Amino acid sequence: MAFAYDDTNIFARILRGEIPCNTVAENDHALAFRDIAPKAPVHVLVIPKGKYVSFDDFAANASDAEIAGFHRLCAQVVRAEGLGLDGGNAGFRAITNAGPHGVQEVPHYHLHIMGGRVMGPMVF
Ligand code: AMP
Repeated sequence: MAFAYDDTNIFARILRGEIPCNTVAENDHALAFRDIAPKAPVHVLVIPKGKYVSFDDFAANASDAEIAGFHRLCAQVVRAEGLGLDGGNAGFRAITNAGPHGVQEVPHYHLHIMGGRVMGPMVF
């Protein structure tokens, strides 16, 4: 399967600095910012800086450095937002949507990190 990347998607525009975002943290390989329509008291999106459409695109095609950088930034966000189990906190939910069945709205890979309340069971 080809992962055709659309350079006009809103997260690509955020990465190019064309539109603002509420940045939480950043490193060489990833950017974390607050979701514009939060579904929980803490709702942060973490995106790779590379052009990856979805989780499966990123996991299959990103370099080891990109994959490590992305996940280290996720861990940094979890810790900084007071969600991490290692800090004695109550935890969080991390999810990603992919494609039509996943109901992915923005075609640039992103991980939702949500916390600050009980998320409820994974039923829809
Ligand atoms: P998904 O359905 O997983 O693709 O979710 C896309 C998420 O991006 C939604 O939770 C939106 O609220 C969020 N979103 C869309 N535009 C922006 C933006 N400009 N800044 C921050 N979050 C956004």
